[in-house]
Amino acid sequence: MTVLIAGAGIGGLTTALMLHERGISVEIYEAAREVREVGVGINVLPHAIRELANLGLLDALDKVGVRTRKLTYLTKQGQEVWNELRGMHAGHEVPQFSIHRGRLQKVIYDAVVERLGKDKIHTGRRLAGFIQDEAGVTAHFTDSVQGGDATTHRAEVLLCADGIHSAGRRHFYPNEGAPSWQGVVMWRGAAEWPVWEDGESMAIGGGLGGKFVLYPIAPAEKGKQLLNWVVNVRIKDPEISTPPPDNWSRQVSLAEVLPHALRFHVPGMDIGGLVKKTPTIYEYPMADRDPLPRWTFGRVTLLGDAAHPMYPVGSNGASQAILDARCLADALAKAEHPRAALWQYEKDRLPKTAEVVRTNRIGGPERVIDEVEKRAPAGFKSIDKVLSHDDRKAIVGGYANMAGFSRVTAARSVP
Ligand SMILES: Cc1cc2nc3c(=O)[nH]c(=O)nc-3n(C[C@H](O)[C@H](O)[C@H](O)COP(=O)(O)OP(=O)(O)OC[C@H]3O[C@@H](n4cnc5c(N)ncnc54)[C@H](O)[C@@H]3O)c2cc1C
Repeated sequence: MTVLIAGAGIGGLTTALMLHERGISVEIYEAAREVREVGVGINVLPHAIRELANLGLLDALDKVGVRTRKLTYLTKQGQEVWNELRGMHAGHEVPQFSIHRGRLQKVIYDAVVERLGKDKIHTGRRLAGFIQDEAGVTAHFTDSVQGGDATTHRAEVLLCADGIHSAGRRHFYPNEGAPSWQGVVMWRGAAEWPVWEDGESMAIGGGLGGKFVLYPIAPAEKGKQLLNWVVNVRIKDPEISTPPPDNWSRQVSLAEVLPHALRFHVPGMDIGGLVKKTPTIYEYPMADRDPLPRWTFGRVTLLGDAAHPMYPVGSNGASQAILDARCLADALAKAEHPRAALWQYEKDRLPKTAEVVRTNRIGGPERVIDEVEKRAPAGFKSIDKVLSHDDRKAIVGGYANMAGFSRVTAARSVP
């Protein structure tokens, strides 16, 4: 069996490795001219890291990322609402990683090149359309770089792992329109900075309408570390404004971001200094799409952001794409017919990811901060008098259960 994969993001590349491991051949088509280290910070949760560890990538991840130790939720003024240990420090058998998104992609890309061969990744090829029949699927790819001739390829399965603007998704849902946007933009950046706290911990200050996120994304060297930050601010009324272009490389000026960043306080951190030191600040609208009724149509299915783009809340974007990859690879390895495999995959993964999409819309685990800020907008002397420990635990722990990472063991061997 051969599987065509459109999109060499984290979802597409991970699926390629897993299919290869199960003896299924793949060809990957990526619209970008090359796979470059684009993006800034991202977190990958233990249940997804277990899958990357099973692929033998843990050592490579350790070289470029940070094993997350602790996460603290704060109010905008910097008062602590909740803190918890993460990854192996919290009893999981595998770590959580805070990592540069491009470096994570590169780790997986390098493994694909080493194990499958570079000739399996065709860059500058954008999925434009496909037709299927009883025996297979024929996909058309345009030359997205030079504008040269389109190419046509045939296989048993087409997997559309082509991100939030998926061509595959548009094919099945031509009237869906643009992603949904509620007026919040994310400004993101990373700068070399003296190691903050223990060099392994994250802080999130503020809730859904406005928050500051801080975490290191590379191992410390000579007392310094690449420190990632995000400011989320509701700047526009979505009823009367259109979202800024959703291009992950779009830059924004320091003058625009700094006054908003200075509204937040994280103990021991000079937020203004960090933002000023950041070489490039990126802007991206916080957008998602409604869960779909179906991802699978015969021999074609969707995966990752193409299937379930979600708010980047609770560290689930890349994590859920990796879990999709595992489920799909297992189903294709086991099922008697590819159509049955794709259907099995959807049956398992669609309801779970739809729940994450919906929960992220109301703040995910960070709803605990919203709840405290709503009850005590001017701050508090005792957090327990604002919201009890059990109530805070129920919000944060409930999310971990829902997203499937409440207790992760290392073992989940390949069938
Ligand atoms: C350039 C970039 C930077 C990002 N930076 C961040 C970040 O800093 N922080 C964060 O939390 N998340 C970031 N994300 C999103 C994050 O990577 C995803 O939410 C998550 O990893 C799920 O990955 P995915 O593989 O499903 O989708 P994506 O990571 O979006 O990958 C989709 C891939 O498909 C390619 N593609 C698109 N259309 C076509 C087509 N028609 N044919 C062939 N290929 C196509 C894209 O070029 C891309 O490589 C970024 C995504 C991209 C594309």
